[in-house]
Amino acid sequence: NEALLDVKGLKTYFYLGDRVAKAVDGVDFEINKGETVAIVGESGSGKSITSMSIMGLIPSPPGKIVEGSIKLEGKEIVNLPERQMRNVRGNEIGMIFQEPMTSLNPVFTIGNQVAEPLIKHRGYKKKQAREKTIELLKMVGFPRAEETIDEYPHQLSGGMRQRVMIAIAMSCDPKLLIADEPTTALDVTIQAQILDLMAEVKERTNSSILMITHDLGVVAEMADRVLVMYGGQIVENADAKTLFTEPKHPYTVGLLGSMPQLDDEKERLESIPGTVPPAHNFPQGCRFAPRCKHAMKECTTEVPDLRDTGNRQKVRCILYEESQGGQHS
Ligand code: SF4
Ligand code: MG
Repeated sequence: NEALLDVKGLKTYFYLGDRVAKAVDGVDFEINKGETVAIVGESGSGKSITSMSIMGLIPSPPGKIVEGSIKLEGKEIVNLPERQMRNVRGNEIGMIFQEPMTSLNPVFTIGNQVAEPLIKHRGYKKKQAREKTIELLKMVGFPRAEETIDEYPHQLSGGMRQRVMIAIAMSCDPKLLIADEPTTALDVTIQAQILDLMAEVKERTNSSILMITHDLGVVAEMADRVLVMYGGQIVENADAKTLFTEPKHPYTVGLLGSMPQLDDEKERLESIPGTVPPAHNFPQGCRFAPRCKHAMKECTTEVPDLRDTGNRQKVRCILYEESQGGQHS
């Protein structure tokens, strides 16, 4: 029963002068076939660097995966030669980024851009590629795909361009789709449509999704499992239902408290005071301690482990180490 993606002890550091930014600092998780896993956290928590590490897109220098393993269907992909990694990205991992960052080339038609990976990675001939492109565009919601293929990116709305990006990401039948803030730049109704589309495409192609987001509404909508990141580490790992009903880590509890409900801007701003610590200068002990309501003396000296608290929920917090140990020993 092998995971589709198995990340173990991942450390991705950036060497900036005499500073070392430990952007990802010991991350472990798995994604099973057909599963949607979300990584949540504030910006600077290490979630995007985790996904970039998996995609082999860490700019090096200054970045480097210094430790750990990333296995895709059992195959190690850390430190693959760039040519092979490009093949993994084309064929096995599809990617979608936040809309303004997605690089649809303004001078090429939509059709050209969807067909490119098919020709490059799958050896399609032009005519075949055109047929498959029309099929893909229909799948992502362009009923008049025969016309859309001859259009240019500027002729489409942001939501439509994101649909095209999904078509490109799915063109070579990837097993894993990595989506980093895919709907952040879109307005709410379009956002919902894009999420629905991703869920539908995932079902149809039996792929898995790794979703990077700071938006817990997106998580609630999409995720089977949730990884909460803070200070370059996972602080809680739970199935989505458990996370929303029984969050354990004080940071998770704070994030859930900051979910905008009824547009209550005030509550949102009050819930987690302070900011994410810089990755070159984490506090001693628990990295969340300076912001934690429950911090005790030992939190500033003891480094909490990510511990299983039962029910497939893991938490990195001294509070749970103690209560668990006390009850079971
Ligand atoms: Fe808060 Fe201490 Fe738990 Fe860290 S270990 S989250 S400071 S209670
Ligand atoms: Mg990010």
